[in-house]
Amino acid sequence: MRPFKHDRAPLRRTTSIPSSVETRVTVTYRCGHEGETTVRGDPARSRWLDVVRERECLDCVRKREGEADARAVADGKRVALEGSEAQVRWAIGLRQRRAVAWASALPSIIEACNQAGAARERVQALVTDVRAAVGSAMAGQEEWQFESDGETRSYTTREARWWIETRADADHELLGTLCGVEGCGADWAALVALAADPGGAPPVADPLADLGEAW
Ligand SMILES: [Zn+2]
Repeated sequence: MRPFKHDRAPLRRTTSIPSSVETRVTVTYRCGHEGETTVRGDPARSRWLDVVRERECLDCVRKREGEADARAVADGKRVALEGSEAQVRWAIGLRQRRAVAWASALPSIIEACNQAGAARERVQALVTDVRAAVGSAMAGQEEWQFESDGETRSYTTREARWWIETRADADHELLGTLCGVEGCGADWAALVALAADPGGAPPVADPLADLGEAW
C-alpha cells in the first residue's frame, strides 16, 4: 500500500484575477473583425472568450440577415417591410430569424407527427397549413391587434412593428397562433396533436421530399 503524504498542502490552481472582476477585452471574431466584450475573471482562461471568437461580429450578422431577407423579397417570397428606418432594420433581422427557425423546425414537427402515429394525409395537411400561415405572414397579409398602454393597435405583417411586437414570443408559440392553433406556448405538441390520428395509415418516413426550401 502506498503511503499518503499528509505533510503537503494539496496543489491548487490559482488565478491572479478573481471571477468577480470584469474586464473589457478586445476580441477577434470568426469573420476577422474586432470588437469588445466583457470577461469575468482571467481573460487567458475564459471559455466565454472562446465562444465569442467562434461568432461573427454583429455587423456581419446583420449584413448576412439583411442580404438573405433582400433575396427573399426579390424572389417574391416576402414583402418589403414598412416603418421607420430603425424599425425596418430591426425587423428584418427578426423576420429572417423566424424564417430560419420555422423552416428548420418543420422536419422535427413531421418526425414528431410520425412518432405520434399521424396519418400521412394529416401530416401533409398540417405542413400545408404551416406553409400557408408562414407564407401569408411573410407576404404581409396577417393582421393582428396589440394592446399597448391601454390602447388597441392593429399591425399587419407588412409592418416592421408586427415583427417587433412579437419578438419575445417563442417560435412555436408564434407559429401556432399564425396557424390558428391554441396551446403552442410550451412546444410543438399542439401542432403535432392536430395532425395525430391514431386510426390513420401507418407513419411514413419522409412525407415531404421538397422540404429544403426555406421561406
Ligand atoms: Zn464581422
